[in-house]
Amino acid sequence: MKKVNIVTLPGDGIGPEVTKVAVDVMKAACLQNGVEVSVTEHPFGGVCYEQHGVPVTDETIESCKETKIVLLGAVGGPKWDNLSADKRPEAALLKLRKELGVFANLRPINVYPVLADASTLKKEVIEGTDILIVRELTGGVYFGRPRFTSEENGDPFSVDTMKYSRSEVQRVARVAFEAARLRDKRVCSVDKANVLESSRMWRKSILEIAGEYPDVELSHMLVDNCAMQIIRDPKQFDVMVTGNLFGDILSDAASMLTGSLGMLPSASLGGENGLYEPVHGSAPDIAGQGVANPLAAVASAALLCRYSLHLEEAAQKIEEAIQSVLTNGLRTADLFTEEPGTTLANTKDVAQLLLKIINDTVEA
Ligand code: NAD
Repeated sequence: MKKVNIVTLPGDGIGPEVTKVAVDVMKAACLQNGVEVSVTEHPFGGVCYEQHGVPVTDETIESCKETKIVLLGAVGGPKWDNLSADKRPEAALLKLRKELGVFANLRPINVYPVLADASTLKKEVIEGTDILIVRELTGGVYFGRPRFTSEENGDPFSVDTMKYSRSEVQRVARVAFEAARLRDKRVCSVDKANVLESSRMWRKSILEIAGEYPDVELSHMLVDNCAMQIIRDPKQFDVMVTGNLFGDILSDAASMLTGSLGMLPSASLGGENGLYEPVHGSAPDIAGQGVANPLAAVASAALLCRYSLHLEEAAQKIEEAIQSVLTNGLRTADLFTEEPGTTLANTKDVAQLLLKIINDTVEA
């Protein structure tokens, strides 16, 4: 039996509740593929501040860097809102992302057929949507220098710099091409090359390496058109790769296709390092009640199996189990609409059914 080590950082609020489910499900799916997952857990965020006076300890950062594979819950809560910026739970997240050098953020946008009614868009538009957005995470206008505010003839002005180098573009493009190979083998690169120099560099850099992936079809789209196309016909996309600013906006817009925050997983990758976390926060309003939707955390564990453990079968098994739970009619409160054939469930009910589905597949 092969053994792998991962770090879990359950964090605050509903983080521990959903992370526990994700870990149990992942362990079961990996065991079936001959892999034993062993977990080292560290306090992170507000709970870490309570214990150590800092939101993340050096020991935890070292442990994550050594293990390279991290499953995170969520951080934050009103209790820590008034701390100084460096003590706040969110500071732990930024530090961890920086220390792990995770430059590519992957957000799958999957519309589950049984939840198609939960979206604000028409069912026939979104049904069958399966997009993977790959966003550059450590460059572009959020980090470019110079960045300053000054004054000219009594008129204040501010400058931000959108900068991309060829190497920055090509490393994130490679993540997108590799991810496409596991899917429908199509990459759409999104930029603003009709106006921006940095976008022309973006497009040119991607074209330079596209020949290395002859099995993947590459297309280009301007970001304003893309914002429209995501809403008009989301099914046309397979993998989308884009810069930090455009990705931030497009991924939030696309997330609403699915209708619920409790369903969205994410992966942040850089070299051999992988950080996996649900998109939602610590949901302090429902923490400790056992009613949180664990499916985004579970889907994040599926991404961990796919991209860090290279266990595609385990990843698919987890994703199919999520689909089955929904088809069975089980809904946590965030998804529940009193539709016939559905049952209001708590976190534990969903966890039990997920594990049953995964373990039954083996016996079948
Ligand atoms: P949130 O995502 O925590 O919650 C927004 C709403 O969605 C709440 O009503 C919540 O109950 C609901 N919700 C979220 N996840 C759910 C789930 N899995 N199941 C059922 N319902 C769910 O966002 P917020 O309220 O803006 O932020 C709360 C705290 O989380 C803040 O301290 C914020 O800074 C932090 N936060 C952390 C992260 C992170 O750790 N990556 C991300 C976003 C927000």
